[in-house]
Amino acid sequence: MLPTLLVATANQGKLRELRELLREFSLVSLRDVGIDDLDEPGADYRTNAVAKAREASRRAGMIALADDSGLEVDALGHAPGWFSARFGGTHGRDAANRAALLSALEGVSPALRGARFRCCVAVADVDGPLADRVLLGVGTCGGRVLDAPRGQGGFGYDPLLVPDGYEHTLAELDEATKNVISHRARAIADVAPALRAYLRRVPVNR
Ligand code: IMP
Repeated sequence: MLPTLLVATANQGKLRELRELLREFSLVSLRDVGIDDLDEPGADYRTNAVAKAREASRRAGMIALADDSGLEVDALGHAPGWFSARFGGTHGRDAANRAALLSALEGVSPALRGARFRCCVAVADVDGPLADRVLLGVGTCGGRVLDAPRGQGGFGYDPLLVPDGYEHTLAELDEATKNVISHRARAIADVAPALRAYLRRVPVNR
C-alpha cells in the first residue's frame, strides 16, 4: 500500500504536476478531505509553504505537503514573486495574471526580460514525530518572459516563460519535460530523500 500524502493546494495545475512528481505516494487533495483553500499569511514562499502544510496537517490529521511558488522578473525588481497568484487582482485567475504581467513589461526589451520561477515545498506532520518541525525543499527554473503568450499546456504564467536552454515556452513543452526542469520538480527532488527517510520510520496511513 502506497503511503498517503495530503497535498495542501486548491490549484489544479499544481496538483496535476505533483501527482506525476510524487508517483510513489497516494495523493489526496484538500477537496478530498473537505478543506477549502488555505491562507497564505506571509510575504515569502517558505513562510507560506510552512503555514499551509502545518494547517492542512493539523486539520486533516495527516502528513501534508504544500507548495508555494511564484515568478520573479528582473525588470520588475523580482515581482510578482510570492504575490504571483494575485498579480491580476483576483487570486488564481491565470489569464488576468498574465495580462497584468504583460502590461507591466510593456516596452521592456528582450534583453531585460530575464525571470525565474521559484518554489518552496514544505512537509508537515503535526501529530507525528515531526511535530513543530517541517521538511523543506526549494527549486528554481530560470528563463525569459515573452511579450505574448504561446502554447496551451501547463498553467499560470507557463505560456509566457521560455526556460533557459529552450526555444519553447513551458506551455509548449510536453508535461514530461516540464516535470524534469521546473522549479516544482526541483523542489520535490530536494525534499524527496528526507521525505522517504521520514516515511520509513513513521507509521503512515494511520
Ligand atoms: P501560490 O503558490 O498558490 O501562491 O501560487 C503560485 C502562483 O504562481 C500560481 O497561481 C501561478 O500564477 C504562478 N506559478 C507557480 N508555479 C507555476 C508554474 O509552474 N507555472 C506557471 N505559473 C506558476
